[in-house]
Amino acid sequence: MNVAVIGGGYAGMAAAVTLAERGVPVTVFEAAKTLGGRARRVEHRDLALDNGLHILLGAYSETLRLMRLVGADAERFLLRIPLTWRIHNRFSLRAVGLPAPLHLLAGLLAARGAPLTERLSAARFLLRMRRQGYRLQRDTTVISLLEEQGQGGSLMGLFWFPLCVSALNTPPESASAQVFLNVLRDGLGGSRAASDLLLPRVDLSRLFPDPAADYVRAKGGAVLTGHRVTAIDESNSGFTVRCDGREREFSHVVCALPPYHAAAFLVGISALAEAAEAVERLAYQPIHSIYLGYPAEQILPAPMLGFDSGLLQWAFDRGALAGQRGVVGAVISAEGAHQDLAHDELARLVHQELQQQLGLLPDPSWHRVIDEKRATFSCAPGLKRPESRTPLRNFFLAGDYVASDYPGTIESAVRSGIYAARMILDTRAAAAPPIMPESGGRGDHG
Ligand SMILES: Cc1cc2nc3c(=O)[nH]c(=O)nc-3n(C[C@H](O)[C@H](O)[C@H](O)COP(=O)(O)OP(=O)(O)OC[C@H]3O[C@@H](n4cnc5c(N)ncnc54)[C@H](O)[C@@H]3O)c2cc1C
Repeated sequence: MNVAVIGGGYAGMAAAVTLAERGVPVTVFEAAKTLGGRARRVEHRDLALDNGLHILLGAYSETLRLMRLVGADAERFLLRIPLTWRIHNRFSLRAVGLPAPLHLLAGLLAARGAPLTERLSAARFLLRMRRQGYRLQRDTTVISLLEEQGQGGSLMGLFWFPLCVSALNTPPESASAQVFLNVLRDGLGGSRAASDLLLPRVDLSRLFPDPAADYVRAKGGAVLTGHRVTAIDESNSGFTVRCDGREREFSHVVCALPPYHAAAFLVGISALAEAAEAVERLAYQPIHSIYLGYPAEQILPAPMLGFDSGLLQWAFDRGALAGQRGVVGAVISAEGAHQDLAHDELARLVHQELQQQLGLLPDPSWHRVIDEKRATFSCAPGLKRPESRTPLRNFFLAGDYVASDYPGTIESAVRSGIYAARMILDTRAAAAPPIMPESGGRGDHG
């Protein structure tokens, strides 16, 4: 057994770690110099920024488990705060120190900035969804679900819509209500710790992919950065992976490419035609990250602050979070008119909004805009996502887009990688010779 993992994002590294932990020889091929894919470090003016500002949740149990396994210090690398939803000068909700779900319900009732009738209605909606196991008979859009459930008024714009866009990266009028409920189930309806916000204090490559690579190498595996795979073909021994003009043989492949790159490899293999079609049907949503470098030290009144006044959705104080004094990271998720703006103009408008909202801010001395046009798949109602197991023996898909309960997130990527690796470990267990206790032989339990 000899596994090729194609792609060194969170999914690929989760697969590689899971296999290496069990002693399976594994080689990761990553096209970029930096590991992490859509959650990676981007160097700018001697600063380790990220391609996008990410939030993790306490519910990201598998990401946290693998971080611990590879020695990434989750306590130090992530700032853990009880669920807080703060829209500047408009709305503020904070989970309270009670057992779930009271921590959230009491937080909702005590929230400031929305009428009590709306807050009671939101609490009743959450309890109703909890009673029905967060399941819908038929998927619909988030906006239809909220309207059917009597939600309205100011909480729509201050809580439900931004929650939908932040979690699913899809506007409420086209986002899946069922996936939204899955997020509510695991993020808000689980334990109190599951709803905690985890804000990265280190760059996203250092958070997991880099220590994961160290772990895989220490277990005898290989992690090859700057290695772009150009073809995957079936062969007598399994698969031939072509990269940099060289061909290497593997018994198994975990294809952990982003969906828009995976399709090109899948279409060439007839057994994967259906998977290729499912991948090609996916649509995408962008995320824009706007970094502004201010001369001042204390910029934002909170490490993470929401806005509902214009383009800007969230701003992060990178000084408070990552020791990058004066750096504000702003986020605009999903599609919108901002996509047509030139980067300089977008940075100027975001600065202007911050100035209007927070009072006098000096002009930033630099800005950097990173626009990820295909940040995640568009999480539409009833979307059919490709399965991890394919009809081609020993060929598995991993990635945030693979069929699961979750939208495109770090946790869905990690879980898909673990799942693909476990299927490979299962094939090894099935192929292992029977255990012969009388001969003293040690069986391989896979
Ligand atoms: C701006 C932004 C903000 C986000 N915010 C959040 C957030 O707050 N919380 C959250 O949980 N999620 C967030 N996400 C989503 C999250 O980042 C992704 O769901 C996750 O990183 C996807 O991981 P993946 O491993 O499935 O795919 P990818 O990260 O895309 O990994 C695939 C890898 O394959 C490599 N590759 C491509 N072609 C080849 C080739 N031919 N050969 C070898 N390697 C190749 C790529 O370089 C890449 O490293 C955000 C995403 C973006 C873009």
